[in-house]
Amino acid sequence: MEAKEVIKEYLDQNKKEFADCADLIHSLAEPSAEEYKSCDVLCALLEKHSFAVEKGLKDQPTAFRAIYGTGKTRIGYMCEYDALATLQQDDVPYLQGNGGFGHGCGHNLLGAGSAAAGIALKEAIDRTGLDATVVVYGTPAEETLLGKTIMVSNGYFRDVDVCIGWHPLDHNDCGEVKFKAASSMTFTFHGVKAHACNCPENGRSALDAAELMSVGCNYLREHIDRDSYLHYSYINGGDRPNIVPDYAKVWYYARAYTYGQMLQVAERIKDVARGAALMTGTTVEWEVLGENHDNKLNFTLSNLAYECMNEAGIPTFTEEEKEYAVTVAKAVGLPNVKGVLEEWVEKPDGTIKKDNGSSDISDVSQIVPTVNLNTVCYGRYTPNHSWAVTVQANKPVAHKGMIFAAKVLASMGERLARDSELLGKVKEEFAKAENV
Ligand SMILES: [Zn+2]
Repeated sequence: MEAKEVIKEYLDQNKKEFADCADLIHSLAEPSAEEYKSCDVLCALLEKHSFAVEKGLKDQPTAFRAIYGTGKTRIGYMCEYDALATLQQDDVPYLQGNGGFGHGCGHNLLGAGSAAAGIALKEAIDRTGLDATVVVYGTPAEETLLGKTIMVSNGYFRDVDVCIGWHPLDHNDCGEVKFKAASSMTFTFHGVKAHACNCPENGRSALDAAELMSVGCNYLREHIDRDSYLHYSYINGGDRPNIVPDYAKVWYYARAYTYGQMLQVAERIKDVARGAALMTGTTVEWEVLGENHDNKLNFTLSNLAYECMNEAGIPTFTEEEKEYAVTVAKAVGLPNVKGVLEEWVEKPDGTIKKDNGSSDISDVSQIVPTVNLNTVCYGRYTPNHSWAVTVQANKPVAHKGMIFAAKVLASMGERLARDSELLGKVKEEFAKAENV
């Protein structure tokens, strides 16, 4: 049997094991960088399938690296398994949750699906003598845009020839999608406490400074590059209205199409913070919690993903599955919910698709040829980071999308290990891609 048939057959025969793993992580729903149990689940799965597992990497107790084989071409996969605050959802197709953590970005599927891809490629090595090594990375804390960034700075990912990622989504694509560079920063203002009615003239309000910073940043929006965004939330705005607050803290994200543009926006936000401090007689300090690059695309890998998707067979869905997706879509309030589960993929034609979000996978793409494809795991236009993803992320449609992704990831690895000319083309495109 050919290696690609081994992969397909193996994943069809063992899909329940991987779906159960995804559902278990779905029920654990742990916060970023605290995914201890989910990390254990994936490590145990990979150990069971004879991978050598290193659990807990430098600075990151919930990261792991699992290796199988000693072959020449080293294929990397990336698991994510963190959940999101407030997105716990009961198993009903309308909003109802307890406010806890939930898998509103489908990372339960991402983790189990990438591990499944690695295990399927291992089967192809065992049964056909494919000259490859599989490296499955457990990458925590994607939602805080930190996990892979720290791993990259600690020297990981340099041990693979390519890194192949995927994400559960509302459509299929081959990874020709450009993410934004991002910076996550907190700003802390310090002022002077005073009685708010007896002697406010003695006080210097840190909250006033934080509010003026918001005003300034909202005016700034109009005068930055049109692909750039900023968002903020208040972490602390003082304690009591009758005491002038001497402490306030706000959290900002700056995003832009390139890393260089992002740094410029971040500098202008810092200027606004300085101005707010000057206006209010307070002081300000900031901390950069994390920074991501935008991603280097690789169309050779995207074209390969397209071929492998068609070979694996784009999933189709039953009437019952479509009906459920429509029910959720209606509960979300989406218009035009007809034909809500997509059963096709567009051929990459060299056009870059822009995504308004960011991912720490971008930092991996800066050091090793990387692609991040998407597969249908829930209804079209389901808002990401919402209860509607949580409720769909442990259903048959999600499992189908995950097994499909595992087939594509494993067969891409198989092709790259078998075809050195293709791997050479991937590396050549990576070397030529613009550094930002
Ligand atoms: Zn995600």
